[in-house]
Amino acid sequence: MDISPYRVQPDSTVDLSSWDTRGDDDLVKDDAKDETEILSKRLDELQEVLYAEEKHKVLVVLQATDTGGKDSTIRSVFGPLNPQGVVVTPFGKPTEAELAHDYLWRVHPHTPGSGMISVFNRSHYEDVLVVRVHGLVPEDRWRRRYEHIRNFEQLLVDEGTTIVKLYLHLSKQEQAERLQDRLDNPEKLWKFRLGDLEERKKWDDYQAAFTEMMERTSTADAPWYVVPADRKWFRNRVVHQIMVDTLEGLDMAYPEAEEDVTGVVVLER
Ligand code: AMP
Ligand code: MG
Repeated sequence: MDISPYRVQPDSTVDLSSWDTRGDDDLVKDDAKDETEILSKRLDELQEVLYAEEKHKVLVVLQATDTGGKDSTIRSVFGPLNPQGVVVTPFGKPTEAELAHDYLWRVHPHTPGSGMISVFNRSHYEDVLVVRVHGLVPEDRWRRRYEHIRNFEQLLVDEGTTIVKLYLHLSKQEQAERLQDRLDNPEKLWKFRLGDLEERKKWDDYQAAFTEMMERTSTADAPWYVVPADRKWFRNRVVHQIMVDTLEGLDMAYPEAEEDVTGVVVLER
């Protein structure tokens, strides 16, 4: 699978309504699932080298509308990996202490160290999304944040971090289905918030905010990908491919032994 059609080119104009939420109909579900399973094993191998080598750091940023599938993506893609090498950080409503600081203050400590994959479930991008849609700070203030964010991410890249940003692109119809599922299913009810219905009324405002976020912050070094998210198996297929391609691009290798072990034998065989 070629992931380049899902990547947002730097300085391009994004028309989200023309981006697919369903995914290519040529791909059959059973085939996609088989391919995903193979990619998942490959990702596991790649993470093992990443962890052993302690050279690269990988930051995955997940953004989506409510019910967009962030949690389920994390579980499907990162769940099977070695948990020692993956840290997931959710970013919810800022605390009082967080609000008393600049909006990146709470983010920076959770960026990955060497050998680690950090997954952000929501992120600093909420500060140009929900904050914009609800007018939580004046426009001139959140507008300047695009540049801060570009610079912040460039700093991370310059210091050795690989950044992958995934926007899970859901249709308004599919969101309605998923919200209703949450109401109908006792195992999903805990995820339902009446507030989600208020957010749904602001659908167009959110789409505009996602659009401008990607136009202004998709860079060559920290690209956004628009992942069709209406069908979970298609979404998983694409995200796995993006992760595998990204890690393969790092050109990693297991480290050499730290000491000279020539001639050392533990067990004669
Ligand atoms: P959930 O991901 O469903 O647990 O919800 C987290 C909530 O936190 C969402 O309603 C987000 O909009 C909200 N949130 C995350 N970051 C911010 C932020 N910087 N300012 C205000 N609300 C935020
Ligand atoms: Mg929620």
